[in-house]
Amino acid sequence: MRHVKYGRCVKCGKTYEAVPDLTTCACGGILDIVYDYDYIKSVFTKETLKNRQNFTMWRYRELLPVEDTTPDPPLRVGWSPLYRADRLAEQLGIARLYVKDDGLNPTASLKDRASAMAVAKAWEAGAKVIACSSTGNAASSLAGNAAAAGFQTYIFVPSRAPKGKVAQLMTFGATVISVQGSYEDTFELSKAAIDRWGWYNRNAAINPYLSEGKKTVALEIMEQLNWEVPDYIAISVGDGCTIAGLWKGLKDLYAIGFIDRLPRLISAQAAGCCPLNRAIAENKPWHPMEENTLADSIAVGVPRNADKALMAIRESNGLVVNVTDEEIMAAQKLLGRTCGVFGEPAGVTGAAGLKKLCEEGKIEKDATVVSVVTGNGLKDVANAIAFCGEPISIPGDMDALLEAFDQRNIHVE
Ligand SMILES: *Cc1c(COP(=O)(O)O)cnc(C)c1O
Ligand SMILES: [Zn+2]
Repeated sequence: MRHVKYGRCVKCGKTYEAVPDLTTCACGGILDIVYDYDYIKSVFTKETLKNRQNFTMWRYRELLPVEDTTPDPPLRVGWSPLYRADRLAEQLGIARLYVKDDGLNPTASLKDRASAMAVAKAWEAGAKVIACSSTGNAASSLAGNAAAAGFQTYIFVPSRAPKGKVAQLMTFGATVISVQGSYEDTFELSKAAIDRWGWYNRNAAINPYLSEGKKTVALEIMEQLNWEVPDYIAISVGDGCTIAGLWKGLKDLYAIGFIDRLPRLISAQAAGCCPLNRAIAENKPWHPMEENTLADSIAVGVPRNADKALMAIRESNGLVVNVTDEEIMAAQKLLGRTCGVFGEPAGVTGAAGLKKLCEEGKIEKDATVVSVVTGNGLKDVANAIAFCGEPISIPGDMDALLEAFDQRNIHVE
């Protein structure tokens, strides 16, 4: 890979050749992929992009750690819509708001960006089997992307994973191990199994290429905004790989001169599980927390990408905000009603955090903000129904309808 220099440990700085099955540093630190920006600048311009018809995450190949000869994985990942959300902006009291709906990816979450990268790298590594542990979305996403490309998958999920995600896993033909315990237990078992059988590892905290896939969300946001940098980007945080990827994409664009400044990140976590935000707020090392939130995708008590995530939040002079489950569900409803976007609880936690910061007067009134919806609401319908209520249920006749409207004070024009 002419454009990639090496993988560098974020803890000790040691560098490693960027082989396809690169994992962590001998010191235990996570690696960061380092690029030759001078070379990339010489072959990649905004004009190149303008003429490119590939509307998937692979339109940014010059900034992705794959060989020229590696085929694009088959599922159409990326280029999700960036909606201008004027009604919601008005309600929140900010000048401009955009909603990036990454729940519209093929398996309905931002995780597809990492899973497509895993498939590309597994192909380069000559692997037949890919494995991961996940709170749910990384799992269903890996299973789908791998199935499309002809890989076998072994997947470890905590037993609390919602039905929608498990249904995806079973449909995509993964071998699914539902672990009776926390996400921490799930992760450890997957690690032991991967060591034992030598499968290709799609654990984002171990495989440094995965956040490179996730960074394409930042590349897209900036291209969709015609390279006009927003003041803030709000996103939900669990393991921390997503926010780290987001930041990496922004820094890449800055390094090659596509953007002239960097936005501040808003790191949103669930109040019942916020080890990373707590570390920032208290300016202390992070400590494990319990996993007390219905936002299952970010119920991560022991974050696996803490170093990269904390660095991203600090470097961006970011804001941290913790939201209760009620605030998360209120944001789900609000996004649904003002934008027509249905996010899963963890998917809308960034928006919930933004709303809270706006209410606390912490976001300037003239700010431009992007809120990333990271996963689709159809993955977890039980919580949505519980919060938004049941429909009007009546027999199929007009009298019953008129009576029901009457009872509920619904006046039809
Ligand atoms: C995984 C996930 C996140 C958080 O990503 P991390 O890399 O774990 O921080 C947020 N929202 C959804 C829907 C996810 O699936
Ligand atoms: Zn190291």
